[in-house]
Amino acid sequence: MTKFLNNKLCRYFSILLFLNSALLPVKPSSALAAWALKTNGVLELRTKSNANLKAYFQKANQNYGDRFWIDFPGELKNPRKIQGNGPIKEIRLGKPNNGITRLVIEFKKETYLSPLTWRMVALDRNRWRIKLFTPKYSFKKIGEGTVENRNNKVDRKSFYKREKVNNYLELPNVKQNRFSVVIDPGHGGPDPGAIGIGGIRETDVVLEVSKIVKKLLSEKGVKVRLTRKNEIDLDLPPRVYFANNLNADIFVSIHANASRGRRRDINGLETFYYKGWRGRSLAKRIQKNILKVSPGSPDRGVKQGRFYVIKNTDMPAVLVEIGFLTGRLDARRLEKTAHRKRIAYAIAKGILEYFSRVE
Ligand SMILES: [Zn+2]
Repeated sequence: MTKFLNNKLCRYFSILLFLNSALLPVKPSSALAAWALKTNGVLELRTKSNANLKAYFQKANQNYGDRFWIDFPGELKNPRKIQGNGPIKEIRLGKPNNGITRLVIEFKKETYLSPLTWRMVALDRNRWRIKLFTPKYSFKKIGEGTVENRNNKVDRKSFYKREKVNNYLELPNVKQNRFSVVIDPGHGGPDPGAIGIGGIRETDVVLEVSKIVKKLLSEKGVKVRLTRKNEIDLDLPPRVYFANNLNADIFVSIHANASRGRRRDINGLETFYYKGWRGRSLAKRIQKNILKVSPGSPDRGVKQGRFYVIKNTDMPAVLVEIGFLTGRLDARRLEKTAHRKRIAYAIAKGILEYFSRVE
């Protein structure tokens, strides 16, 4: 019985991301019965049993703010709009096609969201929840109908836990125990690297990101070594020697930028390699993925650079700059662990894509 229950409770699915404007076909099954967007930023839904839902996210454009929507089979009788509050601009219920009900949540333009970490979790056969935002100011609940099932109490804590575990989208698989990587968190000890807005330090940011990259890659069976694990003074030659001595497959140095004159309007991401198509290919894959998790931050491109650590390592080597700590947009993100995780996820994904397609 416990097993059966667990199976049901563990259903979840990831949000499909549409950074452009494509749409996927929707499969029919059942209708929306009640919904509530609660004061903690969690959307709860009650549907017919075993409904097959599809959720979508689309970035803001000229006409709309960021939008999240869910399609339910079954047609809606009265399309309607509900005025939002706090970060929510408006909620719309409509029928985009025959036989479909669509619940659209439109956010105000300035709202910062992290859809890459969103997970829709099934609480039960007919109930769902998804955390969409963390209200900064008071947010008044919006909803229609009763989302709770009477006589059906569910252990909420287990869902929160499970949701955290599944917070990342799938990373590509590679051959287990086949690849080795050296990750080099820039600076350290007496050299803090760039100092950004509010005193944010490059050494702290890149160390945390590097440790998460290590964890993500290790879970995929990749052997990872860090050139430093804490705040130590580490010169450049020992970093290179460490990687060459281990005969690692690739070397990835992680840094964050600062602009001359500490200009807050300069933001963006860039990835350097020294030479060779392998290094270039690795740089391109990392750059592509870090851009995806940093919407609005400029693409400064994949470039050749003569940095000591990538010039003197024997293996394909890149140096990635994950944003400007002096830039308003990048710094506000990089000060948050949630964004550091997204960047680490993107770097890990770039590395795994490189291994699965190039090596
Ligand atoms: Zn640096």
